[in-house]
Amino acid sequence: NPQLSKRVNEMATSATLAMAAKARELRGQGKDIIGLSLGEPDFTVPEFVKEAAVQAINDDYHSYTPVDGYADLKTAIIEKFKRDNGLSYNPTQIVVSTGAKQSLANLAQVLLNEGDEVLLPAPYWVSYSDISKVAGGVPVPIDTSIETDFKITPESLRAAISPRTKMMIYSSPCNPSGSVYSKEELRALADVLVDHPQIIVVSDEIYEHINFVGGHASMAQFEDMYDRTVTVNGVSKAFSMTGWRIGYIGAPDWIARACNKMQGQVTSGANCIAQRATIAALESPPSAIQYMIDAFQSRRELILGLLADIPGFKCNEPEGAFYVFPDVSHYFGKTINGTTIFDSSDFAMYLLEEAGVATVTGAAFGDPNCIRISYAASEEDIKEAMSRIKNALS
Ligand code: PLP
Repeated sequence: NPQLSKRVNEMATSATLAMAAKARELRGQGKDIIGLSLGEPDFTVPEFVKEAAVQAINDDYHSYTPVDGYADLKTAIIEKFKRDNGLSYNPTQIVVSTGAKQSLANLAQVLLNEGDEVLLPAPYWVSYSDISKVAGGVPVPIDTSIETDFKITPESLRAAISPRTKMMIYSSPCNPSGSVYSKEELRALADVLVDHPQIIVVSDEIYEHINFVGGHASMAQFEDMYDRTVTVNGVSKAFSMTGWRIGYIGAPDWIARACNKMQGQVTSGANCIAQRATIAALESPPSAIQYMIDAFQSRRELILGLLADIPGFKCNEPEGAFYVFPDVSHYFGKTINGTTIFDSSDFAMYLLEEAGVATVTGAAFGDPNCIRISYAASEEDIKEAMSRIKNALS
């Protein structure tokens, strides 16, 4: 509609949400669809977190909170950063938001001017690109391949930097590839970045705990990167609290203050009950959620084993998060059961229509050779989905 702003007309719809909507529509028509498109743990919220929320309601928490979050929640976040990441922050460096997605949107809004370039190691999380664009930024993908476990190298990073580069956003563990950068790998990237002090690094660590190799590393742990790195995290994935909408940042003071100012005009801050519950979540030791990580790990083994049995799927071994990101380019140009597959979007659509399995095209993540399959689903659904995919392709 021409009456809509250029801003929104030029924005892509979130591919993951679009696929979920399409799956819902087909289900509404009576089709049996297995949804492996959303990045959403299928566990319930831990009891102690639910109890804290109920307690908060009964304690009559109801009013606007400080824009950047309750002081005692910020204390819990500061303690969490210390305990899990060895990072020290002051309260003025912490901003609580309505999900990590809003944390990222705040950062783009407060840091980017028209034409500023944003480095996105590809494959990247879908929203990084549009969150940057809507703030006037220009996404600059840094391509990788399955051969390097979808990780960028110091050389590819150096080659992508220009005088207009303002920001780099990456996730480790990575959505969609599951790749985890080791401390040594991050240090090698930092060695390139120290020559370009104008670049702010946004380290999205929302999958921190869903790590099967151990040893989560944060860019801000390096002294020479601390003053220009923003650490983004939240409770959506680790505590299965996607709908509760709480994310947070630890940032240089001047960036946190700007996010606070932005948020003060846009949302007034995050939901008060969810903030109270997040205190309980963050104060719990990581061992309290180990059962979820263990389940994700055994599902990873299950899905990798089943995928290895389907011709034309090439997988890396994801070290974290809960996705596999197989290269399916083997099928491009081929006709299966009367449908010609030209790219990964056609492939994902074919799987939805012929196998009744919802996945997401890798094109949305900046890698058109792949599709993303979420294994945050029951073992039963994973087995049935892989068997249907195998049949639909044979
Ligand atoms: N960052 C990454 C890499 C994600 O995968 C997601 C959710 O899918 C988010 C951020 C957003 O998380 P939240 O639910 O806290 O907004």
